[in-house]
Amino acid sequence: MGYSMAVDGPAGAGKSTIAKLAAKELGLIYIDTGAMYRAIGLHFINNDIVPEDSEAAKIACDGLSINIKYEEGIQQIYLNGENVSARIRMEEVGKMASAVAKLPFVRSKLVDIQRQLAKNENVIMDGRDIGTCVLPDANVKIYLTANSRVRAQRRYNELVEKNIKCDIDEIEASIIARDYEDMHREISPLRQADDAILLDTSDMDIAMVVNSIKNIYEESLK
Ligand code: C5P
Repeated sequence: MGYSMAVDGPAGAGKSTIAKLAAKELGLIYIDTGAMYRAIGLHFINNDIVPEDSEAAKIACDGLSINIKYEEGIQQIYLNGENVSARIRMEEVGKMASAVAKLPFVRSKLVDIQRQLAKNENVIMDGRDIGTCVLPDANVKIYLTANSRVRAQRRYNELVEKNIKCDIDEIEASIIARDYEDMHREISPLRQADDAILLDTSDMDIAMVVNSIKNIYEESLK
């Protein structure tokens, strides 16, 4: 088992931005587990599979291959051999990811892959259940959060930068709805692990958060 840092938290808390930067500075491999749920969500959307139809969902899930590769240090996700990294970022896919993430066979398939990835590498892994379920013995666990308005504002800024028209209230409502789904599902709901360090980034900028994580990392090596 290598070194592992688990980063969990609600949608839009900045987990991937922060974990990517921290990975670079600390020489860890960044693993984005949300991308795996999104890839399965994308497959369901493309093939008109509804998660409520558990038989069809199970057959679809069993037949899927999900692979992670690194190209120039950046995680790429392959669904049945096709690189879907760019296509999984839409809000619609995020919503479907949250719906498929409730299914026990989806979770067990992805948790196995995630544990396998963490076995031989030094990793920083982000998701919802990394500290509570995937890597319960992680060297460090961080629960990264911010209030919903701040999270919506960050997402809004990203979209505006890409010239995508959007409404901040709608974004906030969608974030709140996804958090509710993730926190209230039966299997591995989103929650702060008992031994996780809470980082509320509502009033912090990216550099401050990365710096805190560096300090936590150094402390964990002592
Ligand atoms: O982090 P991201 O927004 O990409 O995750 C998409 C969805 O995948 C989440 O809303 C959550 O329902 C699900 N997920 C999960 N467990 C993880 C990572 C993501 O249930 N470890």
